[in-house]
Amino acid sequence: MAGILQIVRKPASIVTEIRNMILRLPRPPREIAVPLETLAHTLAARESVYVDCSHSMCCRSAKLDIQALTGRLEPGHRSMHQDLVGLFVCSHCKAAGRDRRPVFLHS
Ligand SMILES: [Zn+2]
Repeated sequence: MAGILQIVRKPASIVTEIRNMILRLPRPPREIAVPLETLAHTLAARESVYVDCSHSMCCRSAKLDIQALTGRLEPGHRSMHQDLVGLFVCSHCKAAGRDRRPVFLHS
């Protein structure tokens, strides 16, 4: 109870503390290029590519199956971030009914 009274008396310090907590949170990475130009190159190099959800309630990460992706698209499909990012939606957020947020690809 004493703790609650103390919080009520110092609202400005709580706001400052919350703001400082938010500022310390890691920011989602800006556009990061997948290093290899096509899916065939990425597959041949055995490069691992991950897709991360940017929703703060989720933040899940999944490793892409480049072999399966190459089969669904084509080996010559470009594999830069901007070429692939629009193909993915976070299934966990979709199932939870959350807003669609951007995903980020990285190796
Ligand atoms: Zn998500």
